Amino acid sequence: MHILRRAEAGGTAAAGLPDIWPRAPRSGCEGMPELPEVEVTRRGFADAIAGARVTGVVLGKPLRWPLGIAPAALAGRRVLRVRRRGKYLLLDLSEGLLLVHLGMSGSLRFAPALPAAGAHDHFEMATDRGVLRLHDPRRFGAVVWVPGEEAPLARKLLGGLGAEPLSDGFDFAAFHAGLRASRQAIKQVLLAGRVVVGVGNIYASEALFAARIRPTVPAARLGAARALRLHAAIREVLARAVERGGSTLRDFSDAQGDAGHFQLEARVYGREGQPCVACGTPVRLLRQGQRSTFYCPHCQRR
Ligand SMILES: [Zn+2]
Repeated sequence: MHILRRAEAGGTAAAGLPDIWPRAPRSGCEGMPELPEVEVTRRGFADAIAGARVTGVVLGKPLRWPLGIAPAALAGRRVLRVRRRGKYLLLDLSEGLLLVHLGMSGSLRFAPALPAAGAHDHFEMATDRGVLRLHDPRRFGAVVWVPGEEAPLARKLLGGLGAEPLSDGFDFAAFHAGLRASRQAIKQVLLAGRVVVGVGNIYASEALFAARIRPTVPAARLGAARALRLHAAIREVLARAVERGGSTLRDFSDAQGDAGHFQLEARVYGREGQPCVACGTPVRLLRQGQRSTFYCPHCQRR
């Protein structure tokens, strides 16, 4: 079984937060959970856990950040609801909230009972309705308690996030203004998450293909027509992925332990050398910021 970590009592996470998080690590992360997987995870357990009372928290090896509260202090609190902001899950408790990030390899499960924790299970919260467990072999994920969303640590993690693409708040004028103010290639701007959150590597390639935009074009050069196509494509691609149960990942599983299916219908991602589904031209692969980008040189001419 797990051993309670001694470092959990302190609230020391805020001071030492590097700026690289929550942005995507720069390499080796083609399989990391993206927004649809996180949303599918949320839907998989949000209703079941709402109202549950925490009976105990057990930690495994250190995750990306300390929990920020003594695990025993969480016992007795209720889980009010589960929200999502970008790739963070926000578990509102009767006092404070838990910010959960799946990192590069994390997955959550919630079930009435689970088998004994394994070597890669690093957070487990028992409630009177079931056990919530974070499985994270690479341990880039995190579970962090904060007293509220105005707490410095919460603002640090959530404050720089761009618009939520699946919400009504994903305003086109603001999106276009954000692109116009950027100096990078459009794919890089999407990945950075400051204009719009949650468009990870796979979905950026898919959305740019759907909008017929070359991934290398400077974002500032996109006029209203192309930006409007991209705005719509981002919503469509992400919404479809959520409907299909998330992606993609070799080891992704949602809160029920079922694999997602989006990869089966990716139209350009991962299809280097295969004929474009629209025109038959072989799909090309290029590297942008050490990430793989797939595009059709004919359909995405500029
Ligand atoms: Zn094509």
